[in-house]
Amino acid sequence: MPISYRMLNIGGIPAGLLGLEELFTQLYAEGITPNAPETPELILKGVREHNYIPKYALPIYQSTLCEEYQRYFRKRKSGKAIVARNYGTWRGYPREQIPWFPTISSEACTNCGACLDLCAREVFEQDEDGKIWVAEPFLCMVGCCFCKSVCEPKAILMPSQDILNGFREKK
Ligand code: SF4
Ligand code: SF4
Repeated sequence: MPISYRMLNIGGIPAGLLGLEELFTQLYAEGITPNAPETPELILKGVREHNYIPKYALPIYQSTLCEEYQRYFRKRKSGKAIVARNYGTWRGYPREQIPWFPTISSEACTNCGACLDLCAREVFEQDEDGKIWVAEPFLCMVGCCFCKSVCEPKAILMPSQDILNGFREKK
């Protein structure tokens, strides 16, 4: 089976990573929880087996990857199957390769729910503790920034429109 490939938005820059799904599946099967002290190191070590990460970028990769694992873990815990879903394409590219989706700053977010109420695409969910999180990043409409404008504490980060210039229409 071919190794998985996913694009992530790492500090505003698109990064394609190999083997993320396999790593998360393995960590989950081993009972590694997102908040365990060893998790950030384990994730980084696993990702570096298939991907080069420059030394200066390790902290931002680590925090983004931990958020991704948190997302994966919540889904598994909630009983939702992690199935390969068809998110369609954008300009001829698989949607999962376009790193366009909101990221919530957990320090700034007040869990007011305004983004959840606004977005019709089921990108956001609320967990059992009332925390709003980005459950389905690839359902986000490429180029949209609507939820950012309703977030009073400015907790929603969206990528720069410039990143979309790299995805020219595929013939
Ligand atoms: S609108 Fe902003 S503050 Fe409110 S839940 Fe969404 S991200 Fe958090
Ligand atoms: S940017 Fe638009 S489509 Fe994407 S999550 Fe926000 S409101 Fe929904």
